[in-house]
Amino acid sequence: MIGKDDMSDKTHVVIVGGGYGGATLARRLGDSVDVTLISDDNFLLSTPMLAEVAAGYLDPRHIVTPLRDLCPHAHVIQGTVESFDSEEVSVTIEGPLGAGRRTISGDVLVIALGAVPADFGIEGVAEHALDFKTIGDALAIRNRVLASLEGSAVSADPRLTRTVVVGAGYSGAELAAALSDFVHEAADTYFEEDIEPEVILVDAVDRVTPALSERLSEAAAAQLRERKVEMQLGTKVSSVDAEGLTFEDGDRIDAATVVWAAGVRPNPLIETLGLPTERGRLVTDGRMRASEKVFALGDVAAVPDGSGSVSPPTAQFAVRQARYLGDNLAKILAGETVPRFRYSTLGELVSLGHHNAVGRIFKVPVSGLPAWFLWRSYYLLQVPSLFRKARIAVDWTLDVVFPPDIAWIPASSKQLHD
Ligand SMILES: Cc1cc2nc3c(=O)[nH]c(=O)nc-3n(C[C@H](O)[C@H](O)[C@H](O)COP(=O)(O)OP(=O)(O)OC[C@H]3O[C@@H](n4cnc5c(N)ncnc54)[C@H](O)[C@@H]3O)c2cc1C
Repeated sequence: MIGKDDMSDKTHVVIVGGGYGGATLARRLGDSVDVTLISDDNFLLSTPMLAEVAAGYLDPRHIVTPLRDLCPHAHVIQGTVESFDSEEVSVTIEGPLGAGRRTISGDVLVIALGAVPADFGIEGVAEHALDFKTIGDALAIRNRVLASLEGSAVSADPRLTRTVVVGAGYSGAELAAALSDFVHEAADTYFEEDIEPEVILVDAVDRVTPALSERLSEAAAAQLRERKVEMQLGTKVSSVDAEGLTFEDGDRIDAATVVWAAGVRPNPLIETLGLPTERGRLVTDGRMRASEKVFALGDVAAVPDGSGSVSPPTAQFAVRQARYLGDNLAKILAGETVPRFRYSTLGELVSLGHHNAVGRIFKVPVSGLPAWFLWRSYYLLQVPSLFRKARIAVDWTLDVVFPPDIAWIPASSKQLHD
């Protein structure tokens, strides 16, 4: 057990989750308190760039930043959370590779466990669809799509040329556009067989990126069509199987690759805290407090945004919440009055393949090349390490000059026949 006795006289803050919320908080707290940062991955993942990894435009290592590098003042522990004890202010974790179970207690717990993919109970999603949430998911998608292309050179089965992305929100639309650019370019550049890849974007809602205005949503659909992405909208998927998917109206798409990007839900582990939740997210007050000694932020928490709504589950909000808590935690614990968290979004941008994006910045609609340039500049600035920023910039530059990299990187040789 790691506890107060192992630390200095400073307040011991145990942060659980090393994503945008947890890692930003640990950095912001610096050495003003003792920080233990627990996460099942030992890096911060820059999720907005995940689609570019799935499409092979960015090297996976360039969009992950090690937590030990990022948060030099924190005591970083890689482990998987099993349960919490909110009375004891402790968390029990399982270390990697059978390293065993440990309980870590502190003066304050901050829960930043993010979200997990949601299959909405739809049959076959867990078994047959690929998720789009982690760096491993992005690599699995890339490998599957490449294997399908290689398979198409061996067989004329149209299933092999088809990739379906379910979920036409921001991340699904970005993935479909990036994959479509990639497979078409790869097929044209490297394969003498007459392969015609198809990337199909599917959603129960009848328009893409529905969080944007109808006009921007139409602009996004037009750009997706230009990228040769087909769209099947307004029909619910009823099941996914090894051969493809079936819609509620009985229609089917046979496809070798089905990616499930249809939504996420708050990490269910928070249920073991025994604290109130709202739509699965931990209820917090305007200062991110869930109980006397438990705070929560990011996707896992229902944090009031200061204007009567709950903060949306985005990196933009998780980072702002973490900065707020880093600046105010000591004062809140000392019982001082601090203003409540307040933030409204700067805007949204969706990258839609090469040189294309749509969105709005400060409520002004933007699209095409300027939007794409803004997207790249903004997300490059958000990458926390100068070293990685440089590597991403190099990847992007090389991508302009060279054809796509089509070497697959299977986790093991067994993957060939999956
Ligand atoms: C593909 C994709 C694209 C996105 N694009 C954008 C975008 O363009 N703009 C935007 O604002 N947002 C975007 N988002 C959303 C954004 O990534 C999240 O809102 C943000 O990461 C939330 O931060 P968080 O700290 O709450 O959770 P996360 O960043 O998800 O961090 C959660 C952490 O908890 C750890 N964890 C989970 N379970 C356990 C466990 N049992 N034990 C230990 N550790 C655990 C995880 O490893 C992770 O480190 C995107 C998300 C995805 C998936």
